[in-house]
Amino acid sequence: MINRRQWLYGMGILAGGAVRSGSVLPPNPEDGQKQQPRPLDLSQFVPTSMLEVHESRVERARFPAIDFHTHITTSAKSESGVALSANRKFLGSTEELLAVMDRKNIRSMVNLTGGYDQGLSEAIAKYDRAFPRRFYTFTEPCYERWKEPNYPQIQAQAIAQAYRQGAQGLKILKTLGLYLRNNITSGELVTIDDPRFDPMWDACGQLNLPVAIHVSDPLAFFTPTDRFNERYEELNNHPDWSFYGGDFPSNAALLEARNRVFARHPKTQFVVLHVGNFAENLANVSENLDRFPNMSVDIAARIGELGRQPRTARRFFEKYQDRILFGTDATPHGDQFPQQVFNDQLYEIYYRFLETDDEYFDYAPAKIPPQGRWRIYGINLPEPVLRKVYFENAARQLKVPV
Ligand SMILES: [Zn+2]
Repeated sequence: MINRRQWLYGMGILAGGAVRSGSVLPPNPEDGQKQQPRPLDLSQFVPTSMLEVHESRVERARFPAIDFHTHITTSAKSESGVALSANRKFLGSTEELLAVMDRKNIRSMVNLTGGYDQGLSEAIAKYDRAFPRRFYTFTEPCYERWKEPNYPQIQAQAIAQAYRQGAQGLKILKTLGLYLRNNITSGELVTIDDPRFDPMWDACGQLNLPVAIHVSDPLAFFTPTDRFNERYEELNNHPDWSFYGGDFPSNAALLEARNRVFARHPKTQFVVLHVGNFAENLANVSENLDRFPNMSVDIAARIGELGRQPRTARRFFEKYQDRILFGTDATPHGDQFPQQVFNDQLYEIYYRFLETDDEYFDYAPAKIPPQGRWRIYGINLPEPVLRKVYFENAARQLKVPV
């Protein structure tokens, strides 16, 4: 693999930028000498925007919000991308969470990764029951038991059990489709539409539990990590996030398998996280929303995509204003992933994106934009749309009175 310095030198693009910014002397045509552009390591390139544009600070959401996508607890054990324990790690205390929530006008947080069995009960007791209507915890499939012959029934019963414990929905991580294999961590990948999960999807429909589903990942993760990859730097920092090569299905194949599940289970509500897992292609997401009345989306960790196409994004929000949920992917103390770290600044960025027409601002609270070196534009949603996106659409899924 070539290093950044080598490929940037090959491209010669950033060196040109350096000339313009004045950090390298421009060639002087009068002295007759040809000056070579100097290479610049991309990791050192932090251009300061010279634009004088309006900067709003939006400290509180204009209306009370439900953050539909957070991770307050996670599995205590996982192997090759598959969670293998009911035990939970608790990432944040209720005091620290509530302090930020109160400051930012967050009425409730949905803790998606609540697990199952006693880990789920502990999470529900610590958050949901201790602070009613401030926290809602979801259950997850128990992949530990995947190889048992009657897994389909076991998992359907586990959903009913989780419902009795107080779970408010089911979360599917991208484990399904990208990590879970026939022998759990080895063998062929299990497809999203594997019929062994059908009783689980049906159980959610019967119990009126929404399914928050994440399949696939940013499209760039399915292409080579090379100089043409818009997320080169992010993938270079996290090589294990790449799903290019190996036996990984394409992004399109994952979305098609997912769509077959939606078609087979029309009575089950699916909230497709990360803008339907295709924020790069809102035409595709729109097409699927039109096809599947049981589909909604959240916007977590994708304002970097939405905010790069603000006019298309605003039309998308206006058209699907009843089916878009506010969510951030917030993870307490998740400092290594600034695009989803649970703190005041993260929420302020989301609010600025949704509520203002500010231009060219950072999509994550970080010096270096973590997903790619671009900035975003606000979409200035009208109040009736904001109310729905911040609160009402999630409230409907959670059966919270509006
Ligand atoms: Zn998430």
